[in-house]
Amino acid sequence: MSDFRLMIAGPVDVDDEVLSALAEPTLPHYGQEWMAILSETFEMLQHLFQTHNDILVIPGPGSSAFEMALASMIPQGHSLVMPSNGFFGQRMRDIAESRGIGVHMIEFPMGQPVDPATVRDQLPDLLSQADAAGAPIRAMGLIHHETSTGILNPLQEVAAVSAEFDLPLVVDAVSSLGGVSIPVDEWGIDVVVTVANKCIAVPPAVAIMSVSDRVWQMAGENPTKHGWYQNLNTWKWYIENWGDWHPHPTTMPTNSVVALHRRLKRIEQIGLEGYFAAIHDAAAYFRSEMAALGFELLPDPAFAAPMLSALKTRPDVDPAEMLRYIVEHHGLMASGGLADLRGKIIRVGHMGRASEMGYVEGFLDGVRAYLKVKELGATPV
Ligand SMILES: *Cc1c(COP(=O)(O)O)cnc(C)c1O
Repeated sequence: MSDFRLMIAGPVDVDDEVLSALAEPTLPHYGQEWMAILSETFEMLQHLFQTHNDILVIPGPGSSAFEMALASMIPQGHSLVMPSNGFFGQRMRDIAESRGIGVHMIEFPMGQPVDPATVRDQLPDLLSQADAAGAPIRAMGLIHHETSTGILNPLQEVAAVSAEFDLPLVVDAVSSLGGVSIPVDEWGIDVVVTVANKCIAVPPAVAIMSVSDRVWQMAGENPTKHGWYQNLNTWKWYIENWGDWHPHPTTMPTNSVVALHRRLKRIEQIGLEGYFAAIHDAAAYFRSEMAALGFELLPDPAFAAPMLSALKTRPDVDPAEMLRYIVEHHGLMASGGLADLRGKIIRVGHMGRASEMGYVEGFLDGVRAYLKVKELGATPV
């Protein structure tokens, strides 16, 4: 067993009642007992996603669900428009391009939010250029919580712009769904992807995706071949034809789905508002204590996601050294910066058990102890 606990940007530390599901006898991925668990899981997920759209539970990482959605919706040679402000925006572009889909990036600086008005201004030209080039734009992508910078992009406003231009919106809510309210139906979002191992707080195993009727239709009409497993049409076939006993094409990680089911029951019991509030309160307390120690938020507080604190380092602190000290002496692991922000920020998660006060206080103690050792002129090893 590791001698440290997770406060990284995901995966997250999870409750023992969830872990115990992984140690129970394995169920088959079909039949009555399985269907009872799966159907309840879908219902609870619809509640969490605030949607009546179909939900898919897909073995694999979040990226795999994006690949499935984009390749199914957009014929090869057609394109995606992507307002982007960080590492995961670039990831979505790479996924689309790998499937022969063109990508029009609308770039914003890392550390700044996506601006919906700029997106609206640029769209008419981008749409007509893409049409003229014979590669029409068929959808818009957005990272909701850009986990590389802790910015929560203005999803509702971007969804309004995509609706204005009649573009289906594909949202990466991998590190936001379950941390803040996302009324999927009310905001009219066509595809929303999350994973078990961030705000929902289950060990890594599955991606979870909501799919609108319009997206099922786009997939059905897509004339290009785009694989079997990562193909919405394959999943549709199993829902329609094997729906009462095996509504997915392949074997499922049944222990992980039982763990997910158990966790969703717990979240229902806490209530969504209470569940979000615990994350929010942990973040607010942590940020005020860290500000007092000289660590400021990277994003404008109005756009800072409660799920993760991305903090600028102090000029006298090497963030890698501080994080190493806290893992070794206080048993808590947080994240550093990605790409251009490596060595410049720390990222401390408030998802899963990391929202518990014991974790938050433990990390703050670690920072204070590190600063004290440095003040005394010792080498913090
Ligand atoms: C963690 C994360 C991902 C990566 O998901 P995988 O499950 O590793 O594919 C994608 N997007 C965001 C915003 C994330 O935080």
